[in-house]
Amino acid sequence: MRSHYCGTLRAEHIDQQITLCGWVDRRRDHGGVIFLDVRDRDGIVQVVFDPDVGEFFQRADKVRSEYVVKIVGRVRARSANTINPNMPTGTIEVLGKEIEILNAAATPPFPLDEHNSVGEEVRLRYRYLDLRRPEMQERMRLRARITSTLRGYLDAQGFLDLETPILTRATPEGARDYLVPSRTHAGKFFALPQSPQLFKQLLMVSGFDRYYQIAKCFRDEDLRADRQPEFTQIDIETSFLDAEDIMAITEGMIRDLFKTVLDVDLGAFPRMHYSEAINRFGSDKPDLRIPLELVTVCDLMKQVDFKVFSGPANDPKSRVAALKVTGGGAKLTRKQIDEYGNYVGNYGAKGLAWIKVNELAKGIEGLQSPIIKFMPADVVTQLIERLNAVDGDIIFFGADKKKIVADAMGALRIKVGHDLNMLERPWAPMWVVDFPMFEESDDGSLTSCHHPFTAPLCTPEELAQNPAAALSNAYDMVLNGTELGGGSIRIHNRDMQEAVFRVLGIGAEEAEEKFGFLLDALKYGAPPHGGLAFGLDRLVMLMTGAKSIRDVIAFPKTQTAACLMTDAPGAVDAAQLRELNIRLRKNEE
Ligand code: ASP
Repeated sequence: MRSHYCGTLRAEHIDQQITLCGWVDRRRDHGGVIFLDVRDRDGIVQVVFDPDVGEFFQRADKVRSEYVVKIVGRVRARSANTINPNMPTGTIEVLGKEIEILNAAATPPFPLDEHNSVGEEVRLRYRYLDLRRPEMQERMRLRARITSTLRGYLDAQGFLDLETPILTRATPEGARDYLVPSRTHAGKFFALPQSPQLFKQLLMVSGFDRYYQIAKCFRDEDLRADRQPEFTQIDIETSFLDAEDIMAITEGMIRDLFKTVLDVDLGAFPRMHYSEAINRFGSDKPDLRIPLELVTVCDLMKQVDFKVFSGPANDPKSRVAALKVTGGGAKLTRKQIDEYGNYVGNYGAKGLAWIKVNELAKGIEGLQSPIIKFMPADVVTQLIERLNAVDGDIIFFGADKKKIVADAMGALRIKVGHDLNMLERPWAPMWVVDFPMFEESDDGSLTSCHHPFTAPLCTPEELAQNPAAALSNAYDMVLNGTELGGGSIRIHNRDMQEAVFRVLGIGAEEAEEKFGFLLDALKYGAPPHGGLAFGLDRLVMLMTGAKSIRDVIAFPKTQTAACLMTDAPGAVDAAQLRELNIRLRKNEE
């Protein structure tokens, strides 16, 4: 129907006869001349109808915002005083000759250019209209460009794009499963995949060597900000490659992506051990754009007359850490410091001690702090030296169980870094390696840090002896404090897999019932293999600068895992339930 997209018209098209199809963005009547801004996915162009086109002029006069139109016209230069430098098509306009109304439109529930005032709920309810906005169009196009670039890279590296089932058995990644009742097997359920993990490993057993998939994953997690119950992974698995090889290929993929799509050179990604990341940054996904670090000061605080510090300093499961903030830290007001105190409270910290370094030349007198009176002068001196503190700094302290200190001070580091505009560069990619195999839950039981198929960096015997100390052959790619992707070398031998299940408290019978097919496969010649998966939505969010993951997903769900547009999840009728052998429990009230 069309000869050109609206947004592509430029001076080079002047005097050409063109046909456009699109939506009326705006209609203006300027003293007998009608201006239509016509929009399609490539942008907006101004079309002018003069009264001398007769019935077409009448028609142009009738259209309203969001009408769908087809227009035939001639491109002409705008006069110097009407050139609009803010529009890519702003040097030209189209002199309309004919207009056909392809479809009328009711008045939209919100003006598309005033979406900010309407709230996300309305935008999500009418998502198909929200997606018409140029900003959303741009994000979706970038998303498509990102996936096609990734596919190009992986195809060129010999990866095969293979699909894995959506109706399947549980694939544990630490979340709840979405279940689908089976009609043909009464009382039984499929689970939607939390990831294609087991299938991609089986594809390696089958000899496909290099697999990838842009895969939907489903995790019924508790509501945390900016999570989606269904999300997309760039899922990768390879055989006969070690962790170094896999990191090299995937680092190359992300570098290529940034260069191609954003013209950004990310450079080589630094590596950091998990324990170092936690110690220095209080996080296993450090944001290296922020030049602030935690420094352990337990040794200095063992003897101080301040239980809040000396207690944790003497407890091997606890830690006292200092965070020095240079560049205006000492200018923080009492109120701001109190707010930071409340902020770390969200992470379990019971308070936030601090020392302001006003004038070191004056010795102790030059420091300001509610806690300094509890510290001998030599401790203060050593502290200042260790932190290399100078006039104008503030030093914050966290003293508690190690996990609380890491969480609270790690979060404070990020918050202060942003508040004081300390970001040193736009992009800071890195790898975090050598994760522990297991995490200890509050009840003392162990759960997998990654998933139970991750290979440990030790023998099955060593694993059984001291599981809490075992490290895994896992690696996470981190960008700007966000985990972009994570993966590992997998267990490819049955003894090791059984040893891991035992540590996790999965008995032989349960292992057989849940993962018998995997254990079987491991005995029929499973190659050494490993891979990883990237969160596509998060990647697109970072690359587009969007504030929320919902802004880069065409049809996202709300924080309560619902779709406002289709009203899913919905009730089903009794007959359908009967067919599925399901009887709903009556609501007790
Ligand atoms: N299946 C893992 C995940 O979804 C990624 C991987 O280990 O490849 O986090």
